[in-house]
Amino acid sequence: MNLLKKCPECNSELKTNSENIQVCSVCEYWTKKGTARLDSIMIFA
Ligand SMILES: [Zn+2]
Repeated sequence: MNLLKKCPECNSELKTNSENIQVCSVCEYWTKKGTARLDSIMIFA
């Protein structure tokens, strides 16, 4: 499992929320634990 310790966007510390999603409070970058970002997959339009 690849956990990010720093935000790849702005190098700030990531926080993990109750849904096991890592969120950057600075630039709102987020990723599920062990996965790449899924937001581009979820956009169908
Ligand atoms: Zn960030």
